[in-house]
Amino acid sequence: MESTQIHPFLSLFCKELSCHLESVSARQKVISPGEFAELVSSATIEILDSYLDGSLDLQEYHNSVREGYKELALKSIGTFAQSNKTIESISDEQSNLMDCDDTQHFIDFSLISEKMCDLQSHLSSEVSRANQMIQELNTQVHELELTTTLDPLTKAFNRHALQKHFTELLSKDRFSHEMFILMIDIDNFKLINDKYGHIAGDKVLIFASKLLKKALRDGDRLYRFGGEEFVILLNRTDLEGATLVGTRLLNLSRQNKPLYQNEQISVTLSIGLTPIRDDDTLDTLIHRSDVALYRAKKSGKDRLEMEI
Ligand code: GH3
Ligand code: MG
Ligand code: MG
Repeated sequence: MESTQIHPFLSLFCKELSCHLESVSARQKVISPGEFAELVSSATIEILDSYLDGSLDLQEYHNSVREGYKELALKSIGTFAQSNKTIESISDEQSNLMDCDDTQHFIDFSLISEKMCDLQSHLSSEVSRANQMIQELNTQVHELELTTTLDPLTKAFNRHALQKHFTELLSKDRFSHEMFILMIDIDNFKLINDKYGHIAGDKVLIFASKLLKKALRDGDRLYRFGGEEFVILLNRTDLEGATLVGTRLLNLSRQNKPLYQNEQISVTLSIGLTPIRDDDTLDTLIHRSDVALYRAKKSGKDRLEMEI
């Protein structure tokens, strides 16, 4: 049908009809082609009725719109059929998915796998960062342990380390060989402090610690027990060897005098020697070495005494 031949009424009718169909399709999402044809037909009658005031010959207009109606109806049916097909297939998909009750089907798997990859690489970098941190912390703990087992002034091991090492030593070597302890006390240290000052006293402590450490064999350890008192654990030696070590320390301190403000400070030691017994605890051991040390002090200082 040529557009020039379209009656003005017909073009108005077509507009009305398409509006009508549009509003119907908006309400009714899924519609079959048969239903649509029926809809167009009844809509046509409805619209025509509303335009006819009785002066028009219904049959004449009916005929004149037939071709246009046919064209419009076919076009609309095609469009609706296509839309319906799409909607139907979507709704079929949807009901299948609902039946499966598997909500994952609504998820964009490629996006998810991309995100999982991101997450995985993020996690592995976090893990390597955590490992690095653990390594750093381990180093720090090791350093901290070293500094907490060392006396900050003299750099000899501290009392806490003595307890730790003593326990370790006894658990490993208790019955295998002889061990001894030397309790060393600087003589008249209060006088040194009083005469040269506290700083000089500190320097004497540092000097004595270096001297004692130098005189020790590998495996023997020096501890600052407190104030101006030191302890040496002598491992794998006999009474004669332990006595020799003690005597050597006495001689070394007699012969090596620390310098303070160009003045040589005389430092002597008193030493209490005792063997480590199988049933000893650190307390019983310290007590016995103290007894020996006390005897050395009472006997005139600058000497070694032993308590078996
Ligand atoms: P004895 O020969 O009987 O051992 O007498 P002493 O003077 O060595 O012993 P005493 O216990 O009378 O005095 C020890 C002094 O050591 C007292 C204390 O102020 C001093 N002292 C303790 N720790 C330190 C320290 O870290 N630095 C200094 N400079 N002095 C200390
Ligand atoms: Mg003392
Ligand atoms: Mg003293």
